[in-house]
Amino acid sequence: MAGPADQTGIVFDIKEFAVFDGPGIRTTVFLKGCPLRCAWCHNPEGISPEPEVLHSPAGDRRVGERLTAAALAARLNRQGGILRDAGGGVSFSGGEPLLQAEFVEAVIDRLDRLHVLLDTSGYADETRFRRLLAKVDMVFFDLKLMDPDLHERYTGCRNEPILRNLQILSQSECAAVVRVPLVPGVTDTAANLEAIARACHSFRRPFRVDLLPYNRAAGGKYGACGRRFSPGWDESRPANADTTVFARFGIEARVV
Ligand code: SF4
Repeated sequence: MAGPADQTGIVFDIKEFAVFDGPGIRTTVFLKGCPLRCAWCHNPEGISPEPEVLHSPAGDRRVGERLTAAALAARLNRQGGILRDAGGGVSFSGGEPLLQAEFVEAVIDRLDRLHVLLDTSGYADETRFRRLLAKVDMVFFDLKLMDPDLHERYTGCRNEPILRNLQILSQSECAAVVRVPLVPGVTDTAANLEAIARACHSFRRPFRVDLLPYNRAAGGKYGACGRRFSPGWDESRPANADTTVFARFGIEARVV
């Protein structure tokens, strides 16, 4: 059943002609709000669930707009022909789209034959995750740290809900890719990459793994949203993008 057309959500960006957010050419919707506080987050303006004003020397910029599901779906459907012809579709990213799962669901229910991808940290209760999983064609599942204590230290949250939802994803038929942000000395350690490879290998359906190069520009936006960027790692050190550990476990991995 379609969610209500007047269901509203807060979106902080809509990127058209995106080529790195899933198959083909896509429109990516960035949902505001994230329960995690990854120390390397490159979208700090997506963390607060509320609209906010960013301050910079170039002037103030309001970030976050409340939209109805019907209005957002109509905008996305207007691009439907181009997106379908390009083998693409719509991607929901953030922030954490699962935080506004009901809104995302109501939008998806109104899309006209568009391929839908969910780009998620996986941090949500199981019911929400299952409901949205049933509505999408593909999932990008970001996996950061397998050690629960390190995960809490660097993201502010335990990883048990994430690993539980990854298990649920592995039991589904939904196309999925595990994505690992490579943070030098934090997520790119041999121990963490091996733990991720081992976990991916353990599932009924092994996942492909994409390793995401470290984004050195991440810190640039923090001041504008009143946050402090204080990396506790050496940003100048090249991240370890070793895919051989995945090969050892029969997992297809690549640097994207
Ligand atoms: S999960 Fe993504 S949006 Fe949320 S804090 Fe981490 S990097 Fe940022």
